[in-house]
Amino acid sequence: MIGLFVTIIPLSLSAVTAPDSRLQIRYIRQGDQKYIYLRDVATYYGMECFVWKDHTVLSSKYSKLIFYSDKRSAELNGVSVSLLFAPFTRGIQSFINYADFLYTVDPLLRSAALIGQKPKVIVIDPGHGGKDKGGAGTHFAEKNIVLSMAKKLSTLLQRQGFRVVLTRNNDTTVSLQQRVNRARSVKADLYISLHANIAADKQVSGVETFCMTPAGTPSTYSNSPSNNKESGNLFDQNNMALAFYIQQGLIKRTKATDRGVRRARFYVLRNVNCPAVLVETGFLSNRNEESKLNTNWYQNLIVRGIAEGILRYHRRLIHQ
Ligand SMILES: [Zn+2]
Repeated sequence: MIGLFVTIIPLSLSAVTAPDSRLQIRYIRQGDQKYIYLRDVATYYGMECFVWKDHTVLSSKYSKLIFYSDKRSAELNGVSVSLLFAPFTRGIQSFINYADFLYTVDPLLRSAALIGQKPKVIVIDPGHGGKDKGGAGTHFAEKNIVLSMAKKLSTLLQRQGFRVVLTRNNDTTVSLQQRVNRARSVKADLYISLHANIAADKQVSGVETFCMTPAGTPSTYSNSPSNNKESGNLFDQNNMALAFYIQQGLIKRTKATDRGVRRARFYVLRNVNCPAVLVETGFLSNRNEESKLNTNWYQNLIVRGIAEGILRYHRRLIHQ
């Protein structure tokens, strides 16, 4: 008889095509979200995949990625990175959200995921200033510490041949909108905002680097996605790569606690029209870290870490 050839497509054959590849990456749906098979992600990058009960490891000669089941914090090449959604494990399979594949993992493992020319003009934005002191430690104010760091970072980057513009050169009040306008008017290729942190818990210390949250996903401190697409979202992949290399450089140089790459929709990250990060260089509420943050030697370690991160990002851009 004819006509009995029925094609049965199991649910697990739902697949997306991987970028720049014909490889199909299988996914399952959870509500309105796509979660893709980590084993397929491993195949795509030519990595091995080991699925354990509470974590999954993807490894190759060059990279090691650790995803923890039901936790939004992953460890990617030795750096803590906040994921957009928690991965999970079902039997012998584990899954990450498709957005984390596109916006968190792919920018770190595949240069072609990044867009644009190599950066030439870098805007450094020392947070606060003038009437706005920012966070206050026992002795030192955030606005002064970050200005001092910004000047040191500027010197380092100029030595590497970049043109550097500061959003303020002295202790003046500058609005967030003025900072963004400045970056736009000088046609910034990168925007680096410098801050220092305050926490109610005085034991908390360490560095963290924020980049813009992709549209349709939640920020690190939130569970509810926002669908608004902002100018900062034109560079989602580049933002992630820049934040990652800066955080990696900072950890390497300062040996501070790695609080990770995080996502937030801060005004400056939302509105600049180039890849951008906001670096929280340490906690003024922690006595030990506060006194270090005010020293030249520690500020030099911080700016060296950031500059090395920028250079690493620069080398990753394959165009031009
Ligand atoms: Zn601040």
